Amino acid sequence: MTELQDWIQHGAEMRRPLLANPNLRDEQKIVIIGGGLSGLCTAFRLGQKYPDKNLILVEKSDRLGGVIQSWKKNEWICDLAVNASRPHPAMWRLINDLGLAELWKPSTDKVNSRWVWLNNSKHKISPLSLFKIGPLKLRKAIRNSRKGVKSVSQLIPHHKISDALTLGIVNDTSDNVDADFLFPSLTKFGPIQPISNRKLSKLIAPTYPIFQPKSRSIASLKGGMEVLIDALKERIEAMSNVEVLLKQDIESPQLASERFDTPLASIIWTAPGLIENYEQTSLSIFAVGFEQKHVQQIPLGYGLLIPDKSIPISGILHESDIHYSQRAPEGHRLFRLMVPHERWDQDDATVKNSLPEFFGKNKPVLFENIGTRIIPRFKPGHMDKISKLSYDFTYLGWSVSGVSITHVVDEVERLAELL
Ligand SMILES: Cc1cc2nc3c(=O)[nH]c(=O)nc-3n(C[C@H](O)[C@H](O)[C@H](O)COP(=O)(O)OP(=O)(O)OC[C@H]3O[C@@H](n4cnc5c(N)ncnc54)[C@H](O)[C@@H]3O)c2cc1C
Repeated sequence: MTELQDWIQHGAEMRRPLLANPNLRDEQKIVIIGGGLSGLCTAFRLGQKYPDKNLILVEKSDRLGGVIQSWKKNEWICDLAVNASRPHPAMWRLINDLGLAELWKPSTDKVNSRWVWLNNSKHKISPLSLFKIGPLKLRKAIRNSRKGVKSVSQLIPHHKISDALTLGIVNDTSDNVDADFLFPSLTKFGPIQPISNRKLSKLIAPTYPIFQPKSRSIASLKGGMEVLIDALKERIEAMSNVEVLLKQDIESPQLASERFDTPLASIIWTAPGLIENYEQTSLSIFAVGFEQKHVQQIPLGYGLLIPDKSIPISGILHESDIHYSQRAPEGHRLFRLMVPHERWDQDDATVKNSLPEFFGKNKPVLFENIGTRIIPRFKPGHMDKISKLSYDFTYLGWSVSGVSITHVVDEVERLAELL
């Protein structure tokens, strides 16, 4: 494949380092550690590519899917982690290859607004928000960020705007987040793109199967994101060359190699935790439902981000506004709250008591703490550090090289092409 074709296939993902050991191709046995989206996609793509190799997928817990899970109660459906995907052809290809095209639809066109909570009131976030920084100051900061190892707050020098951006993506404040990791196209991290962004987008657009998404739109699955996990599970179970082992806690690639009596080169690590000084953020997720008439004052939109650390909630996602498929009973709206543990006293009543400030005086008809999630912390310098790593095994997944599902899904395609 020529370099330009690589960029058409993978877009800006080409900027992310691929920590793959090419000797993997010579191994007859492949052991994948971690049964989240990354491990499942790897088992699916490599299982298809190598029907004669023996693949073992090893998961610590008693379920596959990792952070992805869809909570359901009567007609309420709420994803605990990712609920939708931004446009990338690799994601569209995966959905198509799994036979889920009928369930994959763009978000409703009723929503296009996002808000940030500043000085006790809501402010709409738009590209114009960046003008608050001043175009010259912003340009200087972006140029400066190209020297590498900068935080998002240095790339976007307006703390409240940059915090709102990073909270919405990694639930962390912008001082703590690597600019190269989150916005590699802006910081120009990695290899040089062969053509301009505009020309590249034009070449990528016709490669989408199912439908061509509008830029900045999102798409989601009817029934929640766990439908994707179920489809991957079903395909993998049908492959005679793939074995799945649950409730197996493997501490390191070296121990995996010993346990499965295979060289390190045959190990693919997709679980968190290997990088030095690994840190993470934990948060609880709440599903909150209201009768529509009681929250009419809240406009339809994606949601509200709350940088103010004195408030336990860091984000309110408008779940039932976003998706084309129903997430709440008729006449109701569903909201998902993100509650970082460092802001919260672990008492559900504290979260409930902070609802009137954002939703008004009417009581919710649904208020449920639906689970906890952990997000790896991608500190400034993260991408620089991983680009210099070299292992005798393969290391994939969001704890190392990508934050969004599009990164994780595309990374597996790149691995399958390399082998
Ligand atoms: C709250 C939240 C919201 C998100 N929102 C979005 C979004 O809107 N858009 C988006 O694109 N992405 C979003 N993401 C990110 C997206 O969900 C992840 O990028 C992706 O699902 C990560 O998949 P993974 O397989 O790399 O990791 P994980 O899902 O973490 O899977 C790793 C797996 O490894 C297992 N494991 C751990 N240690 C071991 C061990 N020692 N041995 C064996 N197995 C082990 C774990 O049990 C787990 O199953 C969100 C994530 C969270 C938490």
